Amino acid sequence: MNALSSVRGESTRRRGPALDVAVVGGGMVGAAAALAFARAGFATALLEAREPAPWLATDEVDLRVVGLAPSSIALLDDMGVWTSIRDSRAGPYAHMHVWDAENGASIHFDAATEGHDLLGYIVENSLVQWRLWQALEAAGVRRLCPAEVRGFEAQADRIQIELADGESIAARLLVAADGAGSPLRKLAGIETHGRDYAQRAVVAHVSTERPHESTAWQRFIGTGPLALLPLADGRSSIVWSLPEDEARRVLALDDQAFLDELGIASDFRLGRITRSTPRAAFPLKLQLAERYQAERFVLLGDAAHAVHPLAGQGVNLGLRDVAELRDTLVDARDAGRDIAAEHVLRRYARRRRSADTLDAMSFDALARVYAWQAAPLVAARGLGVRLIDCLPPIKRRLAEHASGL
Ligand SMILES: Cc1cc2nc3c(=O)[nH]c(=O)nc-3n(C[C@H](O)[C@H](O)[C@H](O)COP(=O)(O)OP(=O)(O)OC[C@H]3O[C@@H](n4cnc5c(N)ncnc54)[C@H](O)[C@@H]3O)c2cc1C
Repeated sequence: MNALSSVRGESTRRRGPALDVAVVGGGMVGAAAALAFARAGFATALLEAREPAPWLATDEVDLRVVGLAPSSIALLDDMGVWTSIRDSRAGPYAHMHVWDAENGASIHFDAATEGHDLLGYIVENSLVQWRLWQALEAAGVRRLCPAEVRGFEAQADRIQIELADGESIAARLLVAADGAGSPLRKLAGIETHGRDYAQRAVVAHVSTERPHESTAWQRFIGTGPLALLPLADGRSSIVWSLPEDEARRVLALDDQAFLDELGIASDFRLGRITRSTPRAAFPLKLQLAERYQAERFVLLGDAAHAVHPLAGQGVNLGLRDVAELRDTLVDARDAGRDIAAEHVLRRYARRRRSADTLDAMSFDALARVYAWQAAPLVAARGLGVRLIDCLPPIKRRLAEHASGL
């Protein structure tokens, strides 16, 4: 639906643009942001280059899945979309078991010990995105799709946004949720830093001899971590991080050889791997924007930070950005301030950038520690993990942090 005509005009009620917020990028994070802002009473538009395909229960499970932490579920629930996601197809998990292929050390997290029913849910990216998109219209979000941003210019009371088709819209605030390659971040002149892991995550959904026991399994191998995440239909979704060459080799294996190698890599924890969907692979990098804010402009989600999937936190960090920005904008409006004033955006940018940086660096440190191969370091790593597993207060802090609550 193209609602450009309704957002081009100026407000007759007040000075300034008719739109409060223009969100660019309708992935999970951008769609959640647009819905959150509209439900908080802001006149919001969502601009997306490609209309998402409807999610259908009869379709094969999307190869891209995420583990949603309690903080993300709380936000989706608050916006009225969680129940329909959960009831469509979501794999609950109550346990997480992580073990080291080199020294046998393991750590186990259990929801009941932490006083919860569950640790989270494994859900398809396309399902979360589609349920959010379905809720946009009722919340009053104006959807501009297909729409691609070519440029923008901040002015005294607005930001003027130029689209590829020559049209132009104005809003008080421009929010970029346009993914790790973020064209808007580049247009804003914001640099990133980080590192290329020179790894790819090979993903597929697999059937296993034994049930997954509603457990997220992760084995750290010298070449990178292998996760087996419990799907709602009893299969497991694998995220197998491998050096580029190894990933290419594994992608090219014939089906039986792939099942056999995956069985060995998973230590046959769920028995033999009996079937697999076709495989896909995603490049892995650590990328942090050097700042999250420019004039009347902020970054959200992967546009601001891309992290290693070993902690399964990428979209969870993005949804925490959404909640923080919504609360910041509401506070500014309630105090009678311009929602895109520099000091308002600085509050959001400072809080989220420091939290995201801490998390991104922790995941990076984990990736480095698990890449150690020298025997004394491998032994020290095992000792550390065994120690943490025996210290309930530290384990609880780790579980609380991962939950985001
Ligand atoms: C293998 C793998 C496993 C992962 N597992 C987990 C996990 O278990 N848990 C977790 O939390 N995270 C996980 N992640 C990370 C998670 O998938 C990402 O953090 C999340 O998808 C990012 O969402 P986003 O909405 O920020 O960006 P994207 O999904 O990249 O969306 C960006 C959107 O912007 C649009 N766009 C781009 N440019 C323009 C433009 N110029 N104009 C208009 N629209 C534009 C694109 O079309 C797209 O729809 C994983 C990632 C990988 C690679």
